[in-house]
Amino acid sequence: MDYSIALVPGDGIGPEVIAPATEVLDTVGDRYGHGFHYVELVAGGKAIDSSGEPLPRETLEAAKQCDALLLGAVGGPQWETLPGHLRPERALLGLRSGLGVFANLRPVALLPQLKDACPIKDEVLRESNPQGKPHFDLLIVRELTGGIYFGERGREDAGKRAFDTETYSWEEIERVLRIGYTAAGLRRKRLCVVDKANVLESSRLWREVASAVAQEYPGIETSYLYVDNCAMQLIRAPGQFDVIVTSNLFGDILSDEASVLTGSIGMLPSASLSSIAPGSKGPMGMYEPIHGSAPDIAGRDLANPLGTILSAAMLLRYSFNLEHEAAAVEAAVQAVLDEGLRTQDIARRSALPGTEKVVGTQAMGEAVCKALANG
Ligand code: NAD
Repeated sequence: MDYSIALVPGDGIGPEVIAPATEVLDTVGDRYGHGFHYVELVAGGKAIDSSGEPLPRETLEAAKQCDALLLGAVGGPQWETLPGHLRPERALLGLRSGLGVFANLRPVALLPQLKDACPIKDEVLRESNPQGKPHFDLLIVRELTGGIYFGERGREDAGKRAFDTETYSWEEIERVLRIGYTAAGLRRKRLCVVDKANVLESSRLWREVASAVAQEYPGIETSYLYVDNCAMQLIRAPGQFDVIVTSNLFGDILSDEASVLTGSIGMLPSASLSSIAPGSKGPMGMYEPIHGSAPDIAGRDLANPLGTILSAAMLLRYSFNLEHEAAAVEAAVQAVLDEGLRTQDIARRSALPGTEKVVGTQAMGEAVCKALANG
């Protein structure tokens, strides 16, 4: 079958991590008989340089015509002094809201091969894991098109006072919670709503909606945590979590925190969706690693491409319903890690000589393609 994929390589390391991800998709296409057709689009800093705006209208319109969108990262120091509405990151907000993808799924699991890259002690991991293993596997579902990133903002008192507004409607909260419950139903059937209901009115609405929606999912255990406690619990006992559902701002921060537990932010994929439809060709989705454009390592073949390759696996699973192919990509990633291949961000300084081989972005991508083709 043929599929169209909008590609937004973006800035910094974006193009470097998108290239191996498309090679992996092409390998999937060759092996399983699918045709992936790419439509390369410009957004972020590159678009500002070429057209003066972070998200040209043609980019959004062309993306809407595709079956899915794969994005590298946008932004960089050269655009940081521009006014807020002209910054590269506005392209992300525009794409997410323009494509109507309001739920961001961020799986955070510790791969056994990277256990030593996790900063948490083994015994701490074991204590919170129901099977007593030094392992955790959680999913953060972040609301993506509402809250403080989209609320009213401005300056008063001749620029000496600034405000941003957190607003959520019942409907916005309900729809992202339903995605969380669907995901929890496919996992270990536990869902934790994270908010700041002891202080924020918008969080109190989150709790009201959650307690109403929870009635419809009696098979799923619902719990609630304040965000400050959740930030602590992620470090103290990450194994206690299955699915976390939270607002745009809290999800942004908690998922970066959680990424460190897996060894590197370069490992983590994400999917932004409007629904999860297991067993059928899914909706348009936007897929991207959770990291940024990493200007400090851009252009040096140092970036870890695995977060983007795993985002491509999520694309196959959620937008194309190609579960087998998605699992094959994930298995190929595990296979190269089993071989001892590491990009610099996940390499152990204390590794025994000969157990790990530090490789660059391109070589890591090629190794995943090879493992996929031979797997
Ligand atoms: P960042 O995620 O780009 O980098 C944080 C740190 O992680 C850096 O030390 C970087 O070298 C490292 N890192 C990130 N990705 C890596 C990878 N794949 N492999 C190895 N190391 C990796 O965050 P930042 O430095 O706060 O932001 C840099 C720029 O990216 C800013 O302009 C920011 O606004 C933008 N940004 C974009 C997105 C996005 O496009 N989705 C997300 C976050 C930040």
